[in-house]
Amino acid sequence: MAIIFGPVTSRRFGSSLGIDLSPEQKCCNFDCLYCELAPAKVRANIANPPSVAQVITELKKAISTHGATDVITLTANGEPTLYPYLKELITQINAIKSTQKVLILSNGSGAMDKGILESLKELDIVKFSLDSADPLTYRKIDRTLAKPDLSTLIANMSQFAREFKGELVMEVLV
Ligand code: SF4
Repeated sequence: MAIIFGPVTSRRFGSSLGIDLSPEQKCCNFDCLYCELAPAKVRANIANPPSVAQVITELKKAISTHGATDVITLTANGEPTLYPYLKELITQINAIKSTQKVLILSNGSGAMDKGILESLKELDIVKFSLDSADPLTYRKIDRTLAKPDLSTLIANMSQFAREFKGELVMEVLV
């Protein structure tokens, strides 16, 4: 299973080494209408996630091969905030990186969890999606596992935006 991929060039973030936190299969708590991944059962966890040690070993090898990219991107075949050891992983990546910024590409669902939000504050860039501010439309587009409590989600995202020292990118669907 390939945990690290790239470097790839991202229009928004520059050269990127990607970390796939769900390398075995798609694991996502959403089933978005526009998803480009193969359809899979919607789920609330990552099946058989790689350990932090595995990720860091592979990341060190990739950095020594490719040098410092603009960003190291936490992503997944699905939703990266479902990774159970996210806080420890972010701490360890920050300890070994040099000039790279560390970025996460998230569907935003982790904003319902204050613990996840605290972990994300240690990143340089956080990208959240918010496909609609209307609960019915949101559920129709994202086909989420849990019924969305959008007012809490948006309030948590707003608070995070005020407290986060890094760059917050909000991705909206048009
Ligand atoms: S959040 Fe991302 S991975 Fe999950 S279903 Fe939507 S587009 Fe696909």
